[in-house]
Amino acid sequence: MSKIIIVGGVAGGATAAARLRRLDEYAEIIMFERGEHISFANCGLPYHIGGTIPDRGDLLLQTPGSFNRRFNVDVRVQSEVLSVDRSTKTIKVKDEGGIYIEQYDKLILSPGGSPIVPPMEGINSGRVFTLRNVVDTDRIKVFIHTTHPRSAVVVGGGFIGIEMAENLKEAGLKVSIVELSDQVIAPLDIDMACDIHHYLRRQGVSLHLNNGLKKIIDGKNGLTIELQNGILEADMLILAIGVRPESLLAKDAGLDVNGRGGILTDKHMRTSDPDIYAVGDAVEVIDFVTKQPAMIPLAGPANKQARIAADNICGIPSEYTGTQGSAVIKVFDMTAASTGINEKTAKRLSLDYDKVYLWLPGHAGYYPGSKSMSLKVIFEKETGKILGAQAVGFDGVNKRCDVLAVAIRAGMIAHDLTGLELCYAPPYSSAKDPVNMAGYAIENILTGRVKNFHWREVDALPRDGSVTLLDVRTPQEAARGRIDGFINIPLDDLRKNIGEMDKSKPVYVHCHSGMRSYIAARILSQHGFEVYNLSGGYRLYSSVAGDLQNQFLQ
Ligand code: FAD
Repeated sequence: MSKIIIVGGVAGGATAAARLRRLDEYAEIIMFERGEHISFANCGLPYHIGGTIPDRGDLLLQTPGSFNRRFNVDVRVQSEVLSVDRSTKTIKVKDEGGIYIEQYDKLILSPGGSPIVPPMEGINSGRVFTLRNVVDTDRIKVFIHTTHPRSAVVVGGGFIGIEMAENLKEAGLKVSIVELSDQVIAPLDIDMACDIHHYLRRQGVSLHLNNGLKKIIDGKNGLTIELQNGILEADMLILAIGVRPESLLAKDAGLDVNGRGGILTDKHMRTSDPDIYAVGDAVEVIDFVTKQPAMIPLAGPANKQARIAADNICGIPSEYTGTQGSAVIKVFDMTAASTGINEKTAKRLSLDYDKVYLWLPGHAGYYPGSKSMSLKVIFEKETGKILGAQAVGFDGVNKRCDVLAVAIRAGMIAHDLTGLELCYAPPYSSAKDPVNMAGYAIENILTGRVKNFHWREVDALPRDGSVTLLDVRTPQEAARGRIDGFINIPLDDLRKNIGEMDKSKPVYVHCHSGMRSYIAARILSQHGFEVYNLSGGYRLYSSVAGDLQNQFLQ
């Protein structure tokens, strides 16, 4: 009978334990967890703080007792694994009774990642919190209920930071987010994140971008939070600036780790020691799209890797094929989702890529409740292969991003998207789904039927008459806001005005979303004009410009 020891009892650890037992009824399985709880819903913690998940018990998916009854796993909580001795295949464990040694045949490490806490004045204040587990959640809840804070500063605009900002707002606090970079939610590009910035501001969340935490002073009346640029006062602070792999155990055991401490494994999740496997937030993965090493701490990959480690221990040679970073976040009523690479990564790796922006209803516009989403798809110029997608909006966002996630996994090209037959009825979609539309838009570029230009290039276009700048929206739309230098000829009047346009000048055309201007581009190009269409249209241009203006004014 083999003896398998697991370090960590939450996402990866508990998944591995359950899979091991399903595959091997006779193995001895011991799962060590340093904390009090196993198999809890980390991803649900912010929603308990905000009150959406009122019952704390709902976060505890299993107890040591229930897990043992179901899977016959020896669960030892409040038991920290202190070290691994590979020569004797033993671990040293510390629990309330003292320190003892346990032997293993196979070891799985799933120690996760711990919140980064920079050394800084005031960081240990009782008003400063991080969020990783149920104990952290309890601390925050108790603080809110006993001291009734009126304001909070969330440092870090990543997934946990944004979720905490929303939930603290829901709990009645005035919330500010401080973020070092020029945007929240790093997997998005700024042109997609700007919609979130506008929306957060509309929800009353104050955003401090391009700004970092310098010092915290815990005074009689609350915190004085010194930033690189300015000072905020608040009753509490949530630090959510990322996680660091908890890989000291692996490192001290002499296992190979990368420069950031990520444990190195092969595609079977086996570390540099063939009897030790590692999974979850603590391991380095291969980015599915770029094939480069990466650290992508997400629950889905942790669960998949855990299953694969268990499979291999039980003789099934399954393989992990990489992480593409598919992620989704609720921001009040808004949803943002992304998969594959973003444009920042494509640029950093000097990939030969292009992109399209679409602004399309989540379901048929005539059916109540329809709202448009902003969709950005990044593709390989040469082949049309889909490399990444981002979607932000209110209606059907995660569905489209999930379909594009599958397209990326399957190595699909734009043409494949045009052929996807996706579920349609007016309450859910349109007969041409946004994913199909993305395929058409990319295909039009690849076949040369349309040439695009992008929001970044708009301000640099010549205003000296050497090119024609054309706005094909209605006069009513143009009256609500226009781009400097663009003449307004509504699309439906274009044909009758073509004779007055100078064919020797390139035409740069825009409408609200890029759809009518695409039609204009087709009309003009068939009349012999050289035409460029503003992808994403005035909506995207003004959204980004408005956001950058806001940042500038801060
Ligand atoms: P964990 O689940 O963190 O488990 C590691 C466990 O190992 C910990 O409980 C730790 O106490 C224990 N441990 C560490 N060292 C030792 C030791 N030496 N001895 C004994 N025990 C040890 N991901 C998503 O994809 N979507 C989401 O919406 C999402 N939301 C999140 C919200 C929050 C608030 C948090 C904190 C995370 C969220 N995540 C989300 C990330 C997701 O939870 C992690 O990717 C996942 O839990 C990683 O699994 P893991 O097993 O590697 O680590």
